[in-house]
Amino acid sequence: MPVITLVERIDALLPQTQCGQCGHAGCRPYAEALAEGRDPINRCPPGGDDGIRALAELLERPVIPLAADGPQPKPRALAVIREDSCIGCTLCIQACPVDAIVGAAKQMHTVIAAECTGCELCLAPCPVDCIDLMPVNDPDDGKREQVMARAQQARKRYEQHQARKARDQAEKARRLAERAAVAAPAVAATASTAPQTSSVDKNELIRKAMERAAAMRAAKEEADKDKK
Ligand code: SF4
Ligand code: SF4
Ligand code: SF4
Repeated sequence: MPVITLVERIDALLPQTQCGQCGHAGCRPYAEALAEGRDPINRCPPGGDDGIRALAELLERPVIPLAADGPQPKPRALAVIREDSCIGCTLCIQACPVDAIVGAAKQMHTVIAAECTGCELCLAPCPVDCIDLMPVNDPDDGKREQVMARAQQARKRYEQHQARKARDQAEKARRLAERAAVAAPAVAATASTAPQTSSVDKNELIRKAMERAAAMRAAKEEADKDKK
């Protein structure tokens, strides 16, 4: 039977927007900080007061207001790309923590509305500022049941995104290692031939110097003979 850790129980209460407003790179790292007692329970604006109450109950801590010195809750808005302005740079794809954007290099990109958490992380990297936020027209959107219903799917997509990132990084490291392994003998070969080339040059210089010396000696002997 699988053991559910405290981190997993905390993470199950977080909205999985993966927005980083708590100061961590996603809900899971915030859950880890809470489990280790490193952070207060009032740092998640998308979770709001309901989220704080749920965390307080689980962790047996007092209910406190959302941190006033951090970001404040606001209605969820979804990202929409103005496709006629998109230059297909893929920067938004790389920034999206739940892989809610589809597109290829130099082609227009589109947001899958059903997967967008409204984290806003794709806005800043867009070099042509062609991503807008459109408010969600649902008065129930911020209710705890709705938030937690969306969280399941967002967690799954976030985990898949993290796994894909780890695979891509491992693949990149493998390719770099392969390239380094191919380049190493070539460098060694260059290094081993370099002295030979210079020793060839050196031998040639010595040979020419000896020829010159012999020619000078012969010329001197000839001149001495003439004197006699
Ligand atoms: S949803 Fe809350 S816990 Fe998750 S990253 Fe955003 S602020 Fe942090
Ligand atoms: S599309 Fe943008 S706003 Fe929506 S989840 Fe991805 S990064 Fe966040
Ligand atoms: S970052 Fe902006 S320009 Fe680049 S692909 Fe995304 S939407 Fe298009």
